[in-house]
Amino acid sequence: MREIDLFGEVPKEAQRKPPVLRMHVVDAADDCGYREPGQAVGVRFSCARCHSVTDWQFVTVTTAKRGIPCEKCNGGES
Ligand SMILES: [Zn+2]
Repeated sequence: MREIDLFGEVPKEAQRKPPVLRMHVVDAADDCGYREPGQAVGVRFSCARCHSVTDWQFVTVTTAKRGIPCEKCNGGES
């Protein structure tokens, strides 16, 4: 996507990235008890926008908390 201001085309590094739509955890295999950072947890993600739900997948706690980009909602854009 090209962005243009008063001075012409904005350099690529100055352009704002469009927000990434993320999916968030809706189901976790084991969410009780303390887990070491970096340890994988089995979770499913759901997208608030398109309501698609992923299969079970093993991700780190950090990734689970942050969410993952929704392929459907972010698809086709780069
Ligand atoms: Zn989505």
